[in-house]
Amino acid sequence: MSRFQRIVVVGGSLAGMNVIQELRRLGYAGGLTLVGEEDVQSPYDRTELSKKLLTGTIDPDDLYLLTTEEIDELDLDLRLGRRATSLSLDPSRHTLTLDDATILEFDALVVATGSRARRPAFMGGLAGVHVLRTLPDALALRAELDSARNIVVVGAGFIGAEVAASVRSRGQSVTLVDPQPTPLGTVLGPIVGSHFADLHTRHGTDLELGVGVQELVGDGRVSGVRLTDGRLLPADLVVVGVGGAPVTEWLDGSGVEVDNGVLCDDGGHTNVPGIYAVGDAARWYSDYYGTQVRSEHWNNATLQATVVAENIVAAAKKSTLCAVPSFWSDQYRKRTQMVGCPRPTDEVCFVSGGPGEERFVALYGRDDRVTGVISFNSPRGLIKYQHLVAEGASWSASTALPDNIIPTDTRY
Ligand SMILES: Cc1cc2nc3c(=O)[nH]c(=O)nc-3n(C[C@H](O)[C@H](O)[C@H](O)COP(=O)(O)OP(=O)(O)OC[C@H]3O[C@@H](n4cnc5c(N)ncnc54)[C@H](O)[C@@H]3O)c2cc1C
Repeated sequence: MSRFQRIVVVGGSLAGMNVIQELRRLGYAGGLTLVGEEDVQSPYDRTELSKKLLTGTIDPDDLYLLTTEEIDELDLDLRLGRRATSLSLDPSRHTLTLDDATILEFDALVVATGSRARRPAFMGGLAGVHVLRTLPDALALRAELDSARNIVVVGAGFIGAEVAASVRSRGQSVTLVDPQPTPLGTVLGPIVGSHFADLHTRHGTDLELGVGVQELVGDGRVSGVRLTDGRLLPADLVVVGVGGAPVTEWLDGSGVEVDNGVLCDDGGHTNVPGIYAVGDAARWYSDYYGTQVRSEHWNNATLQATVVAENIVAAAKKSTLCAVPSFWSDQYRKRTQMVGCPRPTDEVCFVSGGPGEERFVALYGRDDRVTGVISFNSPRGLIKYQHLVAEGASWSASTALPDNIIPTDTRY
């Protein structure tokens, strides 16, 4: 049984709620408090905010992670709409002060405060300019999309690419802008990135790649996006998707070490005994990478939550996260799945299908090791090859047909 009797989880979303559920599943019967800044009826899944919620094929009710009955069964002290403020955590006294001045006492505390959308300086204060992180963000964007004519998405990472695909699926025109030469290029590299450039073009998305944003123009409301090459794109709605930043300022002064996320070992322990961190806000040591990494993906948040719950409940045994990283993205009703974490400069070998085709599976490799496998519209293909990543299989043996290998500097 756990040495802790009062556990506080800060952050009422995917990672925080999974810690709570896992603790109860493991038989933890002590006090559990969940503090969450968002005033929602239940923690919700963000992954559909850029997909089906935007296209209007699902409603907010479909996003909730738990029903009211399921929350009741967890026997929780649930404090949604409340936040941990700066200088609120005092590890020596084992107390956390909330924004309504409530003081919570704890034996163990889990940081699960996630990340927020980055807001580059060019965003300014014009109406019609959006980021997408929360349910209210998505609903505000969806409402404005209904009457928008010239939509520009800034940033062709996963969220930007998904938003562009959703806008096209709604039958509206959209321009996707990014300084990189391909969408998703910083993660997937130029070859697979070119496939996504093709995909977006085939579906009618206008691409402005290799060019950045100088400024947004408008009088009260945005009317255009000035590119770094001087051109002006007309725009009455702009979505900025340029990455996320961990929400950790509230820990300043607490003694918990933070450096682009809360620094943790491979079991979610911070430098302060009894304080753990999970999900987008955390940067865990990873044996797989040989360093500390922060991952902003759904699978990572849920896996870390399980490990931390195990470590809280079992005093002696130390659980660690040994899973290979993985994520998915949906664009134009096609699912892309990645296992591993290749560098964009790694070699690429298509083992089934090819770029531009309806479906493919490709391996990434470096230093004669398979570093990743990506599947496009081919979940079975992913299952077939993903073990190569976990095993760190030999690249030359796994890609025995040399014709398959496309050097990374080749464009097609
Ligand atoms: C639009 C979108 C689409 C996505 N699609 C995918 C996808 O297809 N595949 C994939 O793998 N991943 C996807 N993700 C990423 C995935 O949703 C995140 O990795 C996941 O939400 C992380 O969960 P989390 O609980 O760590 O953080 P979050 O979900 O960010 O939750 C943190 C919570 O903590 C709260 N909080 C913050 N500060 C405080 C405070 N001081 N006090 C109290 N509460 C606080 C926040 O309000 C928030 O509710 C997507 C994310 C977004 C935004």
